[in-house]
Amino acid sequence: MRAVARSSQTLPGSRGARHTQNQTPTQKKMHDTCPFNPFVERIRIQEKIDAGEKTSALLSSLGDCKRKTPPLARTIIISTLKNQKKPVPEAFIEGIPKAELHIHIEGSLEPELMFELARRNGLRLPFTSVDEVREAYEFADLQSFLQLYYQGVRVLVNERDFYDLTCAYLKKARSQNIRYSEMFFDPQAHTGRGIAFDTVISGIHHAMLDAKQRLGISSKLVMCFLRDLSEESAIATLQQALPFKDWIVAVGLDSSEVGHPPEKFTKVFDKAREEGFLTVAHAGEEGPPEYVWQALDRLKVSRIDHGVRCIEDPDLTARLAADGIPLTVCPLSNVKLRVFESVEQHNLKQLLDHGLCVTINSDDPAYFGGYLTENFLAVQKALRLGRHDIYCLVRNSFQAAFLSLDEKQTFLDELDNYISQNEDK
Ligand SMILES: [Zn+2]
Repeated sequence: MRAVARSSQTLPGSRGARHTQNQTPTQKKMHDTCPFNPFVERIRIQEKIDAGEKTSALLSSLGDCKRKTPPLARTIIISTLKNQKKPVPEAFIEGIPKAELHIHIEGSLEPELMFELARRNGLRLPFTSVDEVREAYEFADLQSFLQLYYQGVRVLVNERDFYDLTCAYLKKARSQNIRYSEMFFDPQAHTGRGIAFDTVISGIHHAMLDAKQRLGISSKLVMCFLRDLSEESAIATLQQALPFKDWIVAVGLDSSEVGHPPEKFTKVFDKAREEGFLTVAHAGEEGPPEYVWQALDRLKVSRIDHGVRCIEDPDLTARLAADGIPLTVCPLSNVKLRVFESVEQHNLKQLLDHGLCVTINSDDPAYFGGYLTENFLAVQKALRLGRHDIYCLVRNSFQAAFLSLDEKQTFLDELDNYISQNEDK
């Protein structure tokens, strides 16, 4: 987000010439690899945009330079988007290539599958119908949701159950043009019921492989520790995960936040990093800004999950912006769990205005009334986001993903192509 904002500020005509004299090393490098001066070119292109020329025509006129200087191509697209005052059709949001970085796989358990798995495993549910389950999805806060969530996961018993659950989510994700997903799973919610770690992760992993092959959706797995359990339990879980290290990209921290500060898990996060895992943590959802500081300084996380309460602490907001720490924000979840009274009152715009790398995610979509597209549609409508905002939010997700630079670039190119091909829709 910060990079996007900065590059778009260099656009207006006459100011461009001054930038040629004070180039940063990155700009210098870009200049050197491009067959013509990108800064002069920007001014020329901006004039064409102002005259009403279409993005697709401009991009094709860039020729080889587009390939060598993707930031330039992107800047041009952004400037065009900024100039568009057109409404954002739902189809534009539905079709845009997306990434999701905050989804609990157990939270994608739809009532229909819950009933099917209960039947398959000979278990009784405290509900008589799918409608009754949905009616129960009215929550006062995070804790009231978690009670139902842990009740739901009891139907997951065999490897096939975890496989079916993961396949169902990835199929749904693909239908929303999610190109890449990082999924959380909660092993302690299962091992605590006597289900083997191997059973859980094998089912999920094989579904991920099959979804990649059959649906073309890429995904990675993040293992969460339940923060309302002890650090010893988290350490034991980390030990169980080591034989499956190659199947897990990062560790995280979830479940009941208040009263369970991140610092409680300093040792296990130290160990996880020593073993080569990346780290993330839920913080600043219901918990205070102090928990976000602890996640950054004690757990040394690469991203903050939720983090919306950071806004209460200007120093913290400045730190997150300066270090480019992404926030995986989940708007419908926040409303359902009463962090905000309505989507209209969500602080997502404020977070963006503070220069934070905000991403949109679904959290526990089966329980919170929508998957990723529904989250985008809700915030676009409630906060009147433009195409440029949607583009930045989606772009942030790919930038914040645990992917190599090349992998990110491939997705970003796909995103830019989508934007340039859909400017008239
Ligand atoms: Zn979450």
